[in-house]
Amino acid sequence: MNASVPGVRPEKYIIICWNRYFMKALVLMEKGKLSLEEVPEPKLEEGEIMVRMRACGVCGTDIEKVKGEAITPPVLGHEAVGEVYRVSNGVKDIQPGDRVFAHHHTPCYSCDLCKKGEYTLCEEFPRHNIRPGGFSEFYAVPRWNVERGAVLKIPDNLDYELATFVEPLGCCLRGLNKLWFEGAEKAVIYGAGPTGLIFLKLLKMKGCGVIVADTSEYRRIFASKAGAEYAFDPRVKEAKINALDSLRGKPEVAVVATGSTAAFTDAMETVSKGGRILIFGSPPQGSKASIELPTVFLKGLTILSSYSTSEIEINIALKMLSERKIELQDLITHKFSLDEAVKAFDVAMDQKCIKAIVISS
Ligand SMILES: [Zn+2]
Ligand SMILES: [Zn+2]
Repeated sequence: MNASVPGVRPEKYIIICWNRYFMKALVLMEKGKLSLEEVPEPKLEEGEIMVRMRACGVCGTDIEKVKGEAITPPVLGHEAVGEVYRVSNGVKDIQPGDRVFAHHHTPCYSCDLCKKGEYTLCEEFPRHNIRPGGFSEFYAVPRWNVERGAVLKIPDNLDYELATFVEPLGCCLRGLNKLWFEGAEKAVIYGAGPTGLIFLKLLKMKGCGVIVADTSEYRRIFASKAGAEYAFDPRVKEAKINALDSLRGKPEVAVVATGSTAAFTDAMETVSKGGRILIFGSPPQGSKASIELPTVFLKGLTILSSYSTSEIEINIALKMLSERKIELQDLITHKFSLDEAVKAFDVAMDQKCIKAIVISS
């Protein structure tokens, strides 16, 4: 208990929390050390809602945060869904008992970037977040998010487990919109983790032939089952040649759904002339890649990036999931209770896992 808030003296801590209930939450104690702790329930301010977490997916960016390599805000768990538990004054159209997904980041909708549709680049976007995070019994959604349409009601026909994909699917849809161009028929994806495989399914829906690169055999087998023309180990030259043969030509688009610099460099070499490369997996702090400018110039490459998702895509994602326009249940390979949340991270860091989710009953 005393250790749950580093730097705060226990006696002071107790005074701050005397009138609040305690709940379980996953806390990042120090670099690389996670612990399930008893922490004070978040205090609701006017216009906020409290959600009882029912399910929350472990994202690659959560893992980067634990490793101390993250470039995004330090809150753990943003693929959370649950049931509204309490509503404070000033909240309209949301009631206790509603099944919801609450987007953790929300833009201002009035700055120059927002006016251009670059919502995820808005300065305000990463400043607002659920408290204390998705891996906790309860979390509060800030008024900023509530007032800006970030709380979506989950239809009855969509279960909580599948609804954890609203955010990651939204991220992939935003990335696909940037990357895709009419006439592209061949694609390569680097990284067969959850988002790489969501991209695989979305690109297949576009009628695309897709090859997938991953260093993990487990994930390659998974990608083949999920519809990849060929899944190859990018370190093995022969395997890459076979993959390109199966595609009958070079891919026009590449998704780098991993933070690996080597994957990005390989994508530049692998795509066809006029090819597009999407940097999608969050690159770890300090990562650098050397770009051969003559290659970019002579091949006419376009290098794109896509960070996070906006309310536009999460609404589409929720609709696609509830109407079964995309099937993602197979990607959930591991489930854990909140008490086992630390283990969920251990497993998610292992390459023999696709999506690990934490469930709270
Ligand atoms: Zn995520
Ligand atoms: Zn803005």
